[in-house]
Amino acid sequence: MEAYILIIEDEQAIADTVVYALKQEGFRTTVCMTAAAGISAFRAASPSLMIIDVGLPDVSGFDVVRELRKDSNIPVILLTARTSEIDRVVGLELGADDYVTKPFSPRELAARVKAVLRRTAAAMPAAHSSGFSIDAEKCVITYAGTAVPLSRYEYAILKLLVERPGKVFSRDEIMEAVWDDPGESFDRTIDTHMKTIRQKLHAIKSDADPIITHRGIGYSLTEET
Ligand code: CA
Repeated sequence: MEAYILIIEDEQAIADTVVYALKQEGFRTTVCMTAAAGISAFRAASPSLMIIDVGLPDVSGFDVVRELRKDSNIPVILLTARTSEIDRVVGLELGADDYVTKPFSPRELAARVKAVLRRTAAAMPAAHSSGFSIDAEKCVITYAGTAVPLSRYEYAILKLLVERPGKVFSRDEIMEAVWDDPGESFDRTIDTHMKTIRQKLHAIKSDADPIITHRGIGYSLTEET
């Protein structure tokens, strides 16, 4: 499984360079523009490594590293605009694994990422989730670090599947669980919602189809990790 890299960078042009560099190497990427979005994406998607800009609009990249290090040893590379020795020292003292000074070449960045991943590979367990997380209070499901824009029924259907990966739900079971008055719905309604949910997931991550159709039976969420 290719490594998944989460990037926190508020400058679009730099984010684009980072994404380009990593895609060339076959890495999957997600970009967040703020520290807050980056931290929640990190919690949702268990990335293999994070690239964090020091100068973010909400809190600094240093603060992000400090927050991550409370309970995670995820490899972190800091991006700094300044060549200041202080930034380097502070970043490494906080537990960043490496730093790259802007401007950088895509090749240099990719080399640093690979070096850090190699260095940390032995110590890191291969932790990959199916990429989903549910915020039941906000009725939001996040997939691969991105909130999925779901209607009320789509949310309820996907939540049902995500909570029981691998379990095959018949259309009747889904209807029972999701609709207040199941009598008003038809099998085809479920199929239509399922199709829309798939499209929305596909829009977030085009190379994956986490929902499995069991012909004549129903649907399940892949257990693949
Ligand atoms: Ca910045």
